[in-house]
Amino acid sequence: MHSIQQLANPSVLTQPVYEPGKPIEDVARELGLDPDGIIKIASNENPAGPSPLGIAAAQRALSQAQLYPDGGCVALRAKLAKKWNLAPEQFVIGNGSNELLELAGRVFLRPGDEVVMGAPAFAVYKLVALLFGATPVEVPLVNHTHDLAAMLRAITPKTRIVYYASPNNPTGTVNGAKEIMEFARALPPHVVLVFDEAYAEFVEAGGKDAAPDIRPLIAEGRHVIGLRTFSKLYGLAALRIGYGYASAELAALLNRVRQPFNVNAIAQAAAIAALDDGEFTARCLRENKEGLAEVETSCAKLGLECVPSRANFMLVKVGDGARVFDALQQRGVIVRPLRSYALPEWIRVTIGTHEQNARFLEELGKIIFPRANPQ
Ligand SMILES: *Cc1c(COP(=O)(O)O)cnc(C)c1O
Repeated sequence: MHSIQQLANPSVLTQPVYEPGKPIEDVARELGLDPDGIIKIASNENPAGPSPLGIAAAQRALSQAQLYPDGGCVALRAKLAKKWNLAPEQFVIGNGSNELLELAGRVFLRPGDEVVMGAPAFAVYKLVALLFGATPVEVPLVNHTHDLAAMLRAITPKTRIVYYASPNNPTGTVNGAKEIMEFARALPPHVVLVFDEAYAEFVEAGGKDAAPDIRPLIAEGRHVIGLRTFSKLYGLAALRIGYGYASAELAALLNRVRQPFNVNAIAQAAAIAALDDGEFTARCLRENKEGLAEVETSCAKLGLECVPSRANFMLVKVGDGARVFDALQQRGVIVRPLRSYALPEWIRVTIGTHEQNARFLEELGKIIFPRANPQ
């Protein structure tokens, strides 16, 4: 009699498990706290809530929930094609951009291949590499920023994918557009660049740190795919929808290996409407910019180092990250500890509403200077 583990593909037994941020309800139950008093600023979700236009469209779409969704996401791809001035065939829609990260692995990775990524970078990159039996090649960040020269040096004949996010998660840092474009053009043709732009909208236009426009790379025939998500700026993380844009040939390969109805109809309707919600996104970007400044200034006053961020979250150096994470959680503030990202002295905090930022900073101050703030 075989145990169920013996029946499993051995690589499944060694596959690491992604650790998501804890939901508010779990923390409330475990610590005996009132869920209404808890704030979660741990997963870079939108503190302003979902796009109102997106949610109205989702509600309308629910009345047709008996029907299978449009498996080709035709309306959304048409809308994206207009927005980006590309062809609809150049898009692939995913169940979150996380699914697209995995689809890239399914298309391009075989056991023994190598996948180059920064360290620390988004945890899913390594998980996808391991899932397909490939070897993650982690290139240390320098000054919390991708070392693109070292990443180029890490490319071997076995490299198939480079996963690279700018802004990076968990550091919030970017490389300049010029440097990124040079990096992409220096990659050999046997390598696919998966350029994760989950936070690109938060980067201000203009200036040397502006996010690159990678469409010229696609037009030049380079093997690159840009990934975007509706989970962050548009506030639709629960609906699971993101997209990739690339050459029609590359998009077709990813479309070939996805499930026929990978993206549900509610998410498609919400995404289409959210793309027009300029009023909402403009407000979110303005409030995020104010929040970043607020958190950075206040942490400096507490004598805590921050990594200047271009995204909707920030790294704060608190000494013992696990202790401060626990203490904040006891006080009803959920942030992200970073031991799993090999940054044990840091926490990552999502920029919240003005009130949430103030609450976080107040509780953090009490933890850092307990005597100055008697209970
Ligand atoms: C949040 C995030 C995503 C988006 O994930 P979804 O699956 O679209 O929700 C992708 N990449 C990075 C680096 C992220 O932080």
